[in-house]
Amino acid sequence: MKIVQLFLLFIICSLQVPSFADLHETREVLASYSNNHHLILQNYDRLSEEWNIYASEKGENWDLDRLLLAIEYAAEKHLGQVRKDPDQTPYIIHPIGVAGLLWNVGEVRSIDVLIAAVLHDTLEDTDATEEEIEALFGPRVLYTVKEVTNDPSISGEENKLRQIEHAPHMSLDGKLVKLADRVYNVSDLSLPPPAWTKEKVDAYYSWGQKLLDVLPGTNTALEKKLQFMIDHQRENAFTPTPIKCPPFTMWVDEDGNVVCGYFPTSK
Ligand code: ZN
Repeated sequence: MKIVQLFLLFIICSLQVPSFADLHETREVLASYSNNHHLILQNYDRLSEEWNIYASEKGENWDLDRLLLAIEYAAEKHLGQVRKDPDQTPYIIHPIGVAGLLWNVGEVRSIDVLIAAVLHDTLEDTDATEEEIEALFGPRVLYTVKEVTNDPSISGEENKLRQIEHAPHMSLDGKLVKLADRVYNVSDLSLPPPAWTKEKVDAYYSWGQKLLDVLPGTNTALEKKLQFMIDHQRENAFTPTPIKCPPFTMWVDEDGNVVCGYFPTSK
């Protein structure tokens, strides 16, 4: 009888907690859409392992399957798009990285915020629709993604001004995604895109600072990280560094040293 009870418990647990097979399946999808990009897969492996442990603690309240589905959905939607680095890394590295920053630096544990981070550029840059996002991921995620989506009918500069005006009125979910997005994009500037002038890089830092100034109290660790990166990287922009890191792995630590790593830590 006891064996039967244990067996039933095992069945119930395995239904509630995402299994290794789910993580592996998403990894396969990500591998095929990113052309087996080693850095994207390494980042995914680290994050998904931690998410899986957290999901097994939280049970059905923390729906890892929905987060994994978001990664598959975003990878498919961003297929063919690349970042601006010289290696033209597949774009999906960015949304996963933004979710990673929220998780690792901001210690954000809301599944809806992490899902919105993964999807945050889909409405703006892909053929994803609001109806699709709501049906697959729910109204709270859709609301956040819409909040951080620029209006395609107006210019880039005007959108930047609107973002500064709009940011203080966003939901906490929207502010978190916006802040982590900015941390990620500023970290990219540790190696500015080859075509960017010093003025363009400088303007980008100023914009990052303005956004940071209108989002106080959103997340101390992420705000601290962004301020630190703006201050230190701006000083050293275009100064050749003796350290060569793979793309998207260069950060400035709290002592001002350039370090290589998959994600910065909050300490
Ligand atoms: Zn983004």
